[in-house]
Amino acid sequence: MLISEKLAKAINQQVGNEFGASLEYVNIASYFESEDMLHFAQVFFDQADEERDHAMKFVRYLLETGAKVAIPAIPEPRSDYASAEDAVAAALSWEETVTEQINGLMDIAHEEKDYIAQDFLNWFVTEQLEEISKMSTILNIIRRAGDNLLLAETYVVDILAQMVAAEGG
Ligand code: MG
Repeated sequence: MLISEKLAKAINQQVGNEFGASLEYVNIASYFESEDMLHFAQVFFDQADEERDHAMKFVRYLLETGAKVAIPAIPEPRSDYASAEDAVAAALSWEETVTEQINGLMDIAHEEKDYIAQDFLNWFVTEQLEEISKMSTILNIIRRAGDNLLLAETYVVDILAQMVAAEGG
């Protein structure tokens, strides 16, 4: 095995965290769609797909390093949001938590001098910077927009397209 039992266990837990994030994003997207904010709904449905991709990246890593895949129970995601601001603040807080989780995995990889894992986890470290930056931007736009959420939506779609272009994606 190219991975310690400790790291394999922590990564299995992270698979659950990423799937959990995906589920919460489906709830957030659904909240926006039910409020007829279809652009925001699309942003969060896309985000839900991204989180599933993250979970699968971790699954692939476990398989490639010869570890057992055992997905843990996923806690029920939050589904009640008081406002657009509340929903996006929940997303930002998720991303902050995920960043701590990724840092925790990196701590183990450093303790164990597991350079393969460090190289693999670096991708997630950069990804978290992008996710937090994206969610803070959306939250700031919503706060500034006040009651003018329809304008905020089109502006966010525009900004996200620019972010994707800047990343070369
Ligand atoms: Mg993620």
